[in-house]
Amino acid sequence: MYDVVIVGGGNAALCAALSAAEFAKKILVLERAPEEESGGNSRFTAGLMRIVYNGVDDLRTLIDLSDDEVARTDFGAYTAAQFLDDMARVTEYRCDPDLTELLVNESLPAVQWMRAKGVRFTAAWGRQAFNVGGRFKFWGGLTLEAVGGGPGLVDSLTQIARRSGVDIWYSARALSLLSDDDGVHGVVVRKQSKTTHVKCKAVVLAAGGFQSNPEWRTRYLGPGWELAKVRGTRFNTGDAIRMALDAGAAATGNWSGCHAVAWERNAPEFGDLAVGDQFQKHSYPWGVYLNAEGRRFVDEGADFRNYTYAKYGRVILSQPGQFAWQIFDAKVKGQLRDEYRIRQVTKRVASTLEELVGKLDDVDPKAALEELKRYNAAVRQDIAFNPNVKDGRRTEGLTINKSNWANTLDTPPFEAYAVTCGITFTFGGLKINHHAQVMSSDGEPIPGLYAAGELVGGIFWFNYPGGSGLTNGAVFGRIAGENAGRNATA
Ligand SMILES: Cc1cc2nc3c(=O)[nH]c(=O)nc-3n(C[C@H](O)[C@H](O)[C@H](O)COP(=O)(O)OP(=O)(O)OC[C@H]3O[C@@H](n4cnc5c(N)ncnc54)[C@H](O)[C@@H]3O)c2cc1C
Repeated sequence: MYDVVIVGGGNAALCAALSAAEFAKKILVLERAPEEESGGNSRFTAGLMRIVYNGVDDLRTLIDLSDDEVARTDFGAYTAAQFLDDMARVTEYRCDPDLTELLVNESLPAVQWMRAKGVRFTAAWGRQAFNVGGRFKFWGGLTLEAVGGGPGLVDSLTQIARRSGVDIWYSARALSLLSDDDGVHGVVVRKQSKTTHVKCKAVVLAAGGFQSNPEWRTRYLGPGWELAKVRGTRFNTGDAIRMALDAGAAATGNWSGCHAVAWERNAPEFGDLAVGDQFQKHSYPWGVYLNAEGRRFVDEGADFRNYTYAKYGRVILSQPGQFAWQIFDAKVKGQLRDEYRIRQVTKRVASTLEELVGKLDDVDPKAALEELKRYNAAVRQDIAFNPNVKDGRRTEGLTINKSNWANTLDTPPFEAYAVTCGITFTFGGLKINHHAQVMSSDGEPIPGLYAAGELVGGIFWFNYPGGSGLTNGAVFGRIAGENAGRNATA
């Protein structure tokens, strides 16, 4: 008999385990994946976490920063008001207000708690800061990164959990909940082809969304979604959502919505841990997109990358043939992210635009050339380019204008990268309250059942501020673990 059983082996689950272990003795983590693939989507991440910080002093509670690093960096601040504003704006004011307030207000305490447990953090110099005149300036509210990225985060949480006496079973798939009128009392598990009943006093569900289930994707996100590539783990097929719904839980949130990005067109069906997140192609604000008809179809410079990337995957999926090309010229080459320099890219290079459009597979070259010329002619050359701010350097008079960072494509060599839609995680899921208790469809908490992370609905809608997923798992994993642990020992 366990006190708390946690379903899942990613960031939310492991944070729940560490938290539960502060209040109860016998904790079991059930991880569906074998050990070498464990850690869910969390392992695939860069380990970036969006947190509130009111200046460098808050960051110094998390990161060992030298005086020299502080002197040559403008870390700025990311206040609770900014985080709340970002959540409200990108979710079109649909995010659950109570859960969002918890996410924001508990973000710094949650990572400080992780730090105190032994998780190490650094600043995301490489991804979230530009060097201007010898000084780094962070942008987009996203500054904190786990040391070693996602793999570092998961390995560190796993080691800490083991040291805290938590049992972890790998290749152990939760199948259903043991529940009756009094609530949830255990989990049915299949481990190494054997089905067993694990009894416990409380269960925390943290087994991810349903993005790796093509049938549910098509059913809930809509026709065509079976054609998307999955960016992360193949194990998040919605099991725990189904288990909870079967036990009477309420479904909530944006069931037809998901986080989806521009992803290498020829990437495999699921994520590859050797490549991690590097199939993504996030530098589109510095260039333009073209579809099969040779047309631009989206405002590449509508906002900072981390406020648009999560919704543009859907836009790419809806293009003819579900693909697009990103086009850049030599002026911005130095600004392209590392992921453009991996071996597994579908890339074309040419010394003229005429030559380039002829090399773009499956694209109408004549229409593409006309479109690029139209774009070049529409750029407001009188406004200076500045990647650190929304510079207003835009196009005018196009059907779809580019609002910021609109550089003309005029300096060879020109480069093009083929992308399709990569789905990250689904937004719809289980309804929880502020104690992370799973709510029943009758509006009451289900005794003994808690949830955290990707499988919780109601927080993200339509879009997502980059780096909120890990914070979401940490904040609600910690709350769920604490309440499950307290409940088990009450
Ligand atoms: C390529 C990529 C890059 C990303 N980068 C970032 C980033 O830098 N910052 C950020 O905040 N977010 C990022 N995200 C999003 C982030 O990964 C998720 O929001 C977060 O990791 C979700 O954590 P989780 O613990 O809820 O789910 P997961 O980490 O996916 O964990 C779910 C776990 O449940 C297990 N499981 C599934 N079914 C069962 C079952 N039946 N029984 C037992 N176990 C089961 C899985 O094996 C897995 O271990 C990225 C995602 C991807 C794919």
